[in-house]
Amino acid sequence: MSLYVQKFGGTSLATAERIHRAARRAIRTKLEGHRVVLVVSAMGHTTNDLIELARATCSHPPKRELDMLLTTGEQVSIALAAMAIHAAGHEAISLTAAQLGLVTDSAHTRARIQRISRDRIDRELAADKIVIVAGFQGIDVGGEITTLGRGASDTTATALAAVLAAEVCEVYTDVDGVYTADPWIVPQARKIDRISYDVMMEMAAVGATVMHSRAIEFGKKFNVPIHVRNSLTDAKGTMIMAEEPGMEQISVEGVTLKEDLATISLNAVPNTPGIAGRIFAEVARNHVLVDDIVQNVYDGGKYANLGFSTNAGDVLEARAVCERIAADLGIGSVEIDEGVAKVSVIGLGMRTHAGIASTMFDALARAQINIENISTSEIVISCIVRQEDAPRALRFVHDAFELDKTDGADNIQACAPKEGSEASPTPS
Ligand code: ADP
Ligand code: ASP
Ligand code: MG
Repeated sequence: MSLYVQKFGGTSLATAERIHRAARRAIRTKLEGHRVVLVVSAMGHTTNDLIELARATCSHPPKRELDMLLTTGEQVSIALAAMAIHAAGHEAISLTAAQLGLVTDSAHTRARIQRISRDRIDRELAADKIVIVAGFQGIDVGGEITTLGRGASDTTATALAAVLAAEVCEVYTDVDGVYTADPWIVPQARKIDRISYDVMMEMAAVGATVMHSRAIEFGKKFNVPIHVRNSLTDAKGTMIMAEEPGMEQISVEGVTLKEDLATISLNAVPNTPGIAGRIFAEVARNHVLVDDIVQNVYDGGKYANLGFSTNAGDVLEARAVCERIAADLGIGSVEIDEGVAKVSVIGLGMRTHAGIASTMFDALARAQINIENISTSEIVISCIVRQEDAPRALRFVHDAFELDKTDGADNIQACAPKEGSEASPTPS
């Protein structure tokens, strides 16, 4: 008998009616002859509300207590989902991470899954129950409650799907699937039918919040197809799956926006060997996430300005750490800019096609938007812009690559093949 993991996000559980809808979906899948594990997030905006409440109570809440608080959101959802299934005359059981044995490391608010025990889930499935698991949470070896990072119920779902060798992990959300850009910001964005794990992982990492990027790692490693779809319709969504030959032809698959960023600049850093290593070792030791790093050397190589971007949520900690380092290492000053955002283009075809960077920069120039920093990786080009310009930047870049028009075949005409590339430039 095949197994389905079905994950429902906050909006898809925002009311009792929606919880009933999710329950009906799970029951239908079970009646079709599958075993079902349901993974749920906290209802609606519960997690945000709880964070606000924590901050209103304590300006710098201890992360252990934050995890204790935030995990209550998912606990409400599992209980209500189980009740909804019982109300419909079927058997279900709700389980917290501690009850099922989802063990993480001890990094509160950003813990990583270390192992998942199958025993309890297998027993409940064997008793013909729908098993409902609280997403986003874990337990460390010392019995402490942890969370896996914002949006990480997706990761609970794909990790469970991997461990249980599920046929598919269905991720039910408030849009029809993965689009070429966030459809609420770019109304012309087009739904993508199939996308590779690699591209989706990159898109998620640079702002496509429709999936948590670590969730894709599990899908890829254990080859579990992930079906992102709308919880309110039966329409097919987007399949996230292993790369197929046709996928390589697409130069740019999507564009993303990351708004919750801040940049930290360390000015007048003595330019001597080992300084960057010491700075970033200290930053990492304090669990501050580092996004892009830029360094410019000046004054004949005597000094450097060293900057990095980080999540806005980490900015208080980042500032404190950097000010400490600055005092220790004789660094001139530390500056924080919380008004930045990052616009990125992502596509596998970038490996073989040139001209993508210039198309992006040209689009931003036409929009009269200044680029504050540029970074690139194998299949991503990112520009830092002012936050107030960011949604417009996204629309201009989406438009420049004509992502609304392509039907998944290619947008390659705009971009010449790189020299020596084996890819055919223009499919007929
Ligand atoms: P859930 O609560 O179901 O987990 P999320 O808010 O985490 O939902 O993810 C769905 C949201 O992701 C969409 O409403 C949309 O605003 C956002 N999003 C960002 N980028 C994309 C994209 N490329 N395609 C689809 N949705 C996207
Ligand atoms: N409730 C958690 C959050 O809002 C986890 C999730 O929704 O995936 O981040
Ligand atoms: Mg989500």
